[in-house]
Amino acid sequence: MIYTVERANLISEQLRKFTDSYAHMVAGQFANIDFWIDEVINSVRAIDEHSMRFEKMCEAQIKWIEEKEVRVPNYCHICNGICELSEQHYKKPELPKNRSKGEKKESRKKLVDSTYYFLIRCFKIGLLNEEELKIYCNKIGISVDLYDLKK
Ligand SMILES: [Zn+2]
Repeated sequence: MIYTVERANLISEQLRKFTDSYAHMVAGQFANIDFWIDEVINSVRAIDEHSMRFEKMCEAQIKWIEEKEVRVPNYCHICNGICELSEQHYKKPELPKNRSKGEKKESRKKLVDSTYYFLIRCFKIGLLNEEELKIYCNKIGISVDLYDLKK
């Protein structure tokens, strides 16, 4: 799993634990609410900008490979190493593939959801009023479902 997704999942899990805790524990974590909201905002941004960073990384690799004419052994699964039959013993290195699209989407949703449920719990036990709840939700790019406000 890529770093960006692992990080988001870690924060999600943390917020989920807070949400399920006793009220006195939630009150304790709430003291650092701005820290946690910042963590969420940064992590969501890291997910949204991941493809951009990935492209940048690939471009840098391509540049290096081209400039230095890098070649790597042409691995053959039959010969279990450099192919004894092929003329081409060395080839250009393959570039990394960005396969994390689904993972990122899922992890982003999980992060935003767990933040939302944590904020709703804070609201329900009286740590946030409706106005403050809306401000925090706004910061993470979601709106409040009025149904969730029923205590
Ligand atoms: Zn071979």
